[in-house]
Amino acid sequence: MSKGNINVSVENIFPLIKKFLYSDHEIFLRELISNATDATLKLKHLARIGEAKIEIGNPQIEVKVNKDNKTLHIIDQGVGMTQDEVKKYINEVAFSGAEEFLEKYKDSEAKETGIIGHFGLGFYSAFMVAKKVEIFTKSWKDEPAAHWTCEGTTEFSLEEHNRKDRGTEIVLHINEDEEEFLEESKIRELLTKYNKFMPVPIKFGTKEK
Ligand code: ADP
Ligand code: MG
Repeated sequence: MSKGNINVSVENIFPLIKKFLYSDHEIFLRELISNATDATLKLKHLARIGEAKIEIGNPQIEVKVNKDNKTLHIIDQGVGMTQDEVKKYINEVAFSGAEEFLEKYKDSEAKETGIIGHFGLGFYSAFMVAKKVEIFTKSWKDEPAAHWTCEGTTEFSLEEHNRKDRGTEIVLHINEDEEEFLEESKIRELLTKYNKFMPVPIKFGTKEK
């Protein structure tokens, strides 16, 4: 297990994300589904060109709500990430994107919904609705799975995990004041709005108690 501190010069990114997208909290779902889609299409590509010598079947994306635990889950069967890749793509790249974002928009009133995605902050938009985010991920490569946790500060924890399924599960522990995102009808509405023509099928159902 490793613990670390994300670059302190960007420690204001979380409040900023909230500020800029105040009226658009719901875009987190679009961002996370788009990452799940990218990961799935990457794996399909690797299989097609023979780089990943694995049977991938018909990968899908699943969205689940667990009302008891107040969690929302976005699960894909895509490329997944190794621990090193989580460090690189989640901790480092995202925060270098954050720095660029801060620099460019610190004095601006811009509130375009597209902004966050353009700066590689897509994943971090999860913190608009979640007080804690977990990533369980297993790469298609023959390496152990990883479990990343962050509670909306620059601190994260990253450790090995025993997950065997290839792909990634993002778990959002939904804020008390964002509980509408635990309503099946709300999620269904967003999935229809943002993801009508997505190239990977999305399954949605409420998790049984
Ligand atoms: P972007 O999608 O613009 O690259 P994000 O912040 O949305 O920026 O994601 C950062 C990176 O984290 C992605 O480029 C990808 O490498 C990795 N990542 C995020 N979600 C997943 C996922 N579900 N499966 C595999 N990798 C992912
Ligand atoms: Mg993205």
